[in-house]
Amino acid sequence: ESATPETDVDVLIIGAGPAGLMAAVSLAHLAPIPSSSPLSVRIIDKRSTKIFSGQADGLQCRSLEIFDSLGFADRAWKEANHMIEICMWNPDSSGIIKRSDRIPDTIVGLSRFQQIVLHQGRIERFFLDNIQKYSRGAIKVERGIMPTSLEIGQERVKVKVRKLTEEEAAVPQVRTGSKNDSTDGLFRSNLVGDDYEDQNIARNGTGEEEVINARFVIGCDGARSWTRRALGHDFELQGEATDFIWGVMDIIPITDFPDIRMRCAIHSANDGSLMVIPRENRLVRLYIQLKEVTPDASGRADRSKITPELIFSAAQKILKPFKIDYEYCDWWTAYQIGQRISPFFSHPSNKVFLAGDAVHTHSPKAGQGMNVSMQDSFNLAWKVGLVAKGVCHPRILETYQSERRRVAQDLIEFDHKFSRLFSGRPAKDVMDAEGVSMAEFKDAFLKGNLFASGLSVDYGPSSLVVKSGDPGELGDRSDRSRKLEGVHKITEDEFNAKQSLAKGLPVGMRVNSFKVLNQACARPWHFQERLKADGRFRVVLFAGNILDQKQKQRVRAFCDKLNSSDGFLRKATPEGAKIDSVVEVLTIHSAKRTETELLRDFPDILHPFDSHTGWDYNKVFVDDESYHEGFGDAYNNYGADRERGCVVAVRPDQYVGWIGELEDFEQLQNYFEGILISK
Ligand code: FAD
Repeated sequence: ESATPETDVDVLIIGAGPAGLMAAVSLAHLAPIPSSSPLSVRIIDKRSTKIFSGQADGLQCRSLEIFDSLGFADRAWKEANHMIEICMWNPDSSGIIKRSDRIPDTIVGLSRFQQIVLHQGRIERFFLDNIQKYSRGAIKVERGIMPTSLEIGQERVKVKVRKLTEEEAAVPQVRTGSKNDSTDGLFRSNLVGDDYEDQNIARNGTGEEEVINARFVIGCDGARSWTRRALGHDFELQGEATDFIWGVMDIIPITDFPDIRMRCAIHSANDGSLMVIPRENRLVRLYIQLKEVTPDASGRADRSKITPELIFSAAQKILKPFKIDYEYCDWWTAYQIGQRISPFFSHPSNKVFLAGDAVHTHSPKAGQGMNVSMQDSFNLAWKVGLVAKGVCHPRILETYQSERRRVAQDLIEFDHKFSRLFSGRPAKDVMDAEGVSMAEFKDAFLKGNLFASGLSVDYGPSSLVVKSGDPGELGDRSDRSRKLEGVHKITEDEFNAKQSLAKGLPVGMRVNSFKVLNQACARPWHFQERLKADGRFRVVLFAGNILDQKQKQRVRAFCDKLNSSDGFLRKATPEGAKIDSVVEVLTIHSAKRTETELLRDFPDILHPFDSHTGWDYNKVFVDDESYHEGFGDAYNNYGADRERGCVVAVRPDQYVGWIGELEDFEQLQNYFEGILISK
């Protein structure tokens, strides 16, 4: 027998769903960051194809901001259906459903994007195209490959994989032979136990084997994650399932229900609840509570009882007296509501990480699963990539667990509350303690909208975020209650004083976006558009009123330190590389654009010179009126002083890491020395 071939790789991603693809795309975008050798990345998936219909469809504001930082939000924005209003329907005193309220779908003013819906297959397509473009073809999803063993060594993680045959890798489908003979998503539903377990296939298969020696492994292999199980019992999901079973159908409806093109939450008096999600291409998704199907003593529902006919007749009952029918069904599935989370998102060696459904599952109705899953690996990938490239200190890897597990925990709690309110019977009156109060439901919806946008995420203190408060522990269990390394010390009073320099840029939260103008060409930009997810940290200098002589002196003093040979900027930049290749300095000033001159008023380091390409005209911006797009009023919106300004450090994922005065250079230097490895 010939020896199994072995390959070395920097990062191995297991699973090419939204979480795995986000990891791959983010790593592809790090290519221009200088390092001694290019980052090698592989991504494998057991299935032979990507998803073509169904599954997740909601994209939240934060996910769109992230897509924009990677260069493909415009594709999603154009193709998707835009969610503008939510209508609530509840039974009136005679038990007939009536529209009782309307609220905006996305809280007004929260982001430059609003929630949209488009099926997961298209979103996966955008990812694949972007990975191809930015990795120049070097990263390709390798399909029909499954891992069979994982061993964490001193230097590398040894993962044995096996190629599957076409048949073994195909997606199992239930065919009914009726007009509902469309694609179903049951094979990925949590109603499926181990019956589609592919492990035997992989173990006993005849396909070729390979050993992949990876420096880092990212497990993005979904709710029944093989990688999670390979890490042992510590990583088991904890939580509970409920008795509520929901069906999902993507159909083109034929109906007299007036709000079919609005997002609707409908509570019927006695027949359960329904959620309407209007979609692209005339489709509408219905989430339907199935009162006829309940779990058995083992806690699982009988999947064979669930058919599209059963799901649809439940919808028809809830919508009465309105009529609904359809000729075309694109996809359907069913799931049991439950909220489960793994205690750990990373192995203590910080060589193996888990992201997405692999570590948290919940009901899909709040449209969070795909969003939070992608945001997990967006948080992780740049950290892994920059450590692998030798740019960042490995200690930053610990912040993945501390930052993302907290978000998942919040999500589980939110979903727990929200899905129970949704699945409960509406209260008949205030004395009806068993029923759900519709006022409480609306309130939860309004609060939920902020959470659901993804914009309330607020990372705690760590080596990457300088703020006061409890950094938390790295896990729930006493045997792993290690503390985070390299947390910056700052008292609450000190921190509050710094934060007050720009209240609209909360440390630990993502940089909000307002329009500013390019000083050199007067073009308006949403400032976030300048914060690309290319692995670079940024220092944003709010230079204030640069035409005031005293302020100009302060800016000059700050820039002298920035430019000095022992400053973090030069120390982090490799010999011969451009000065903005690891940390980019961007400036926003508040003087009048037409009275200010880029070359006269701003120190060179703010618009660096290159002997081949001249001055850099894309680094200095002004908070001033534009000709065509109004006034962004950025200083006011960020809460920065128009005279004195301030300095902000921004992480590669657009989260604020540090804030201070122009005189606080030493603290800024400390911040970066804790993160970046000097050359
Ligand atoms: P997955 O999408 O499950 O991807 C895992 C990948 O890993 C798959 O490609 C799989 O083939 C592969 N894999 C699995 N095991 C192995 C293995 N051993 N080896 C190799 N590869 C493996 N989320 C939202 O945000 N918004 C919504 O509106 C929404 N609606 C939903 C509606 C429904 C009906 C359902 C079922 C889910 C919905 N979700 C929604 C949730 C969303 O689909 C998931 O949260 C999301 O897909 C998770 O992404 P992931 O990459 O972590 O996992």
